[in-house]
Amino acid sequence: MASFPQLNIFEQIIDLPEFKVKNYRFIKGFGLVLIVEKKEKKACCTSCGKKSDKLHQNYRYLVRDLPIMKHDVYLKVNRRQFKCSHCQKPFTEHFDSIKKTRTYTERLAEKIIAEVVESDVKNVAQRNGEPMIEN
Ligand SMILES: [Zn+2]
Repeated sequence: MASFPQLNIFEQIIDLPEFKVKNYRFIKGFGLVLIVEKKEKKACCTSCGKKSDKLHQNYRYLVRDLPIMKHDVYLKVNRRQFKCSHCQKPFTEHFDSIKKTRTYTERLAEKIIAEVVESDVKNVAQRNGEPMIEN
């Protein structure tokens, strides 16, 4: 188990306030895996809007995030499913930084979109070329 100061540094580096870093693994040739969990113990029911902490089941999966110093970074998240203690309906918790059914963070998606837009600009510039100067 990693020590508290190490995990604290990872929390500062990833800078996603909704998550706490529980542990980490560095897998050579794969990348850095940070095991994270939402800080908030309760979640809002999507049907009635009331908060519940009645855990139904855990659902852990890998989400790709921004790389650190050329190493790929993955968050192993636990998107918990609750059973509402008020209306009894099951619901899945919400993350601000990762949309449902996505395997990458919002900020990684933004970075890739920005790169695509930029590379399009470069391609357009290349296609159009610099004006030829003839001697
Ligand atoms: Zn409810």
